[in-house]
Order: sequence, then structure tokens, then C-alpha cells
Amino acid sequence: MNGPELLVPAGNLEKLRTAVLYGADAVYTGVEGLSLRARQAEMTIAELAEGVRLAHRRKVKVYAALNIFARNRDLALIRQRVGQLAEIGVDAVLVSDVGVLQTVRQVAPRLPVHLSTQANTTNAEAVRFWHGLGVSRIVLARELSLAEIGQIATAVPEIELELFVHGAMCLAYSGRCLLSAYLTGRSANRGECTHPCRWEYSLTERTRPEEPLVLTGDDRYSYLLSAKDLRMIEYLPEILKAGVTSLKIEGRMKSVYYLAVVTRTYRWALDAAALDPAGYRCDPAWLAELEKVSHRGYTTGFYLQSEGEKFAGVNLKESYRKTHGLVGTVLEYRPTEGRVLVELRNQLVAGDETELLLPDATLLLDSQAMTNEAGEPLAEGHNRYRVYFPVDREVPTGAVLRRRLARV
Ligand code: SF4
Repeated sequence: MNGPELLVPAGNLEKLRTAVLYGADAVYTGVEGLSLRARQAEMTIAELAEGVRLAHRRKVKVYAALNIFARNRDLALIRQRVGQLAEIGVDAVLVSDVGVLQTVRQVAPRLPVHLSTQANTTNAEAVRFWHGLGVSRIVLARELSLAEIGQIATAVPEIELELFVHGAMCLAYSGRCLLSAYLTGRSANRGECTHPCRWEYSLTERTRPEEPLVLTGDDRYSYLLSAKDLRMIEYLPEILKAGVTSLKIEGRMKSVYYLAVVTRTYRWALDAAALDPAGYRCDPAWLAELEKVSHRGYTTGFYLQSEGEKFAGVNLKESYRKTHGLVGTVLEYRPTEGRVLVELRNQLVAGDETELLLPDATLLLDSQAMTNEAGEPLAEGHNRYRVYFPVDREVPTGAVLRRRLARV
């Protein structure tokens, strides 16, 4: 690894494999039973054990998120999980609650502990405090500027600092928010936010619910609380200069398509920035790639401005931009046949603009050349269909195919 690590979310084993394939140095995931219901963003201990083996074979680290604000009733399970996590060899656990930290120190004193952004660490003394309690890395509060982060790195060089560089922003201070718990019963403080701040809202008069009043935004709704997504790819040299150890991509719930695109794009950019920070130029092709994943417009968050200045990160006018989507993943490359076997995950019609994402390149696929096992042409395929495309270079298993969503 050259320079700081690229840390990528991996909500399940498939996402972990995708993150590793496309260039992550480290991945993080949720742990079974420590949210209120089984979801896409956590793994069982058995899955995690397999994920750790798989990741370590590629020299990729695995961090397990235990960053709930625990209640008394959670403590026994946390104690059990910490023991299991230490046993399967995760590289660190991520905590926000001091009670969970205390439990980790008691059960597995040698297990490195990272402190979540939800602990809201905003200054050098707070960093020293946590370091004194055995924390080796801190994800600083998202509200800090790069200048403040640089000052903290200089003042407390013995601590590792981790920074979000890409993904959804949260309007609540360091993610402490009750909106999701209030509206859906799923609490952001237990890693379960359903993002109601991004939902579509309108104002209605009591007797005329069918006639919503438009406040602003598009012609139907307003997005009063919807933060734009963070994107710091243009400022990687500034981030490296601030003395950060780990660059984190947000989004354990994101799809494998999102992970493939964002991970490889930041991999390319980070390698370029680490090699020659002074000569770093953000390639327009990287920005174009990041436009091809679902997002709400991009912002640099608080990094380039102080918190007191107006935060321009709210997108009133739209919910999501989505131009491309996942169409399938590669099951196998057959060199003697010169074709790849793909499992479709969505409908694909012959003629759709389709691309195969490799870790180092993008190949345009001829969707008219899609066939079945016998080599017979297919006019269309659907979810779970196994189809073939001619490809004349080696393709790794798990590589992702995308298509442009507006049919051509
Ligand atoms: S609802 Fe929105 S503001 Fe609240 S925690 Fe979730 S993402 Fe943050």
C-alpha cells in the first residue's frame, strides 16, 4: 500500500469481495444482532470469518462496526460478539459508545479500537482523551475543516485519523438524529437510519390532502432536508497533506455496482495522488464515473469551509440522480471459449448500452451478442438468467456489468 488506506463499506460477503476486487485496502461491516433486525449491512460471525480469510489473503484489513449507542440489554451480546470478533481475527472494531469501548478493553484488550464519527470528536484534547483510553484511530466529526484536521494531526501525531471522502452526508450533527426512529422505528443511533431526511415532502391543507402545496424544488415535492453527497476526489493532495491515515467511503447499504465504481475510481485517484501529490490533477474521466452512480449532487461538506459559514450542501430541487444501474456480475471467464458467463441481476435488452467494469478499465460490451449456453442469441435476459458475452481479455469473477438506464 502506498499512502493512506482506502476504506470501503462491505455490508455482506458479496460486497466485501467487490470492494477487494476493485482496490480497497480495508473494508468495514456491521455485525449480526447488533441492530434491531437482520439487514443488508451486517454479516453473521461465520460470514465475517470467511470475509476475514478472503480479505487477509489479499492483504486487505477488515474492521467490524460496533458503533451503536448501547443500552444495558445490549451489553451481554456485545461482550459475546467482541470475543468472537477477536477470535476470527478482525483487524479492529469501530465503537462510538464509551461502554462498548470499555467492554472491548475488558474482553479483548489487544484488539485495536477505532472511534466512530458519531462520538463527535472535534479537537486535539478530545483526541488525546480517547487515545488515553486505548483508541488507536479516530474518525473525526464530519463538521471539521481540513485545516482543523491538519492541526489535530500535528498536535497528536500518535493517533491515526480517518476521514470520510465520499458518500451520503447527514444533516444531523455527527449523525445523532431521531428522525428515522420517530418516523420508522429504526434508529440512526443503532446504525439503522432509513434516511427520511431525503424523502419527498409537501405542505398540505388539512381538508385538501390531494392538493399538496409546492414550496420549492421540483414540480411535485420539496427536499427540504436532503443533503448532497460528499465527494472529495478533487482534493486528495490536501487530504494527504492534513496527515490522514485512512480515507473512508460511506455506505454499507450501497449496491455492488456503487461499490465497484466508487472504489476503483478512488483507487485510481489515490494512487495518482500518493505518487505525485504536487502534480495531481483530478481526471475528468473520474468525475464522469462518479456521475454514473446514484447521488444527490455533490458537495465538499465542511472540509473547505468552517462550520459557521453557510453550508451549501442541501439539494432542494431533486432527490436522486441515476443514469446507470447494475445489470449483472461475472460468474466465470472461459478463456478457451473467449467469453464470460454472467448472472443477470436486472433486465437486459439486446441493444442496451452495456459496460463491463474491470479494476483497471471499462469495456464496452455488445449486448446484441448476448447468448445462452448453447451460443444462441438472446433478445433479452432477466434477473437470474445466465448469459454469455464474447470478451477477449481475462475478466475476474465478480466483475460488475452496468447499463445506461434510458434505453437507446
Ligand atoms: S435521517 Fe437524515 S439527518 Fe437523520 S441520521 Fe438519517 S441521514 Fe442523518
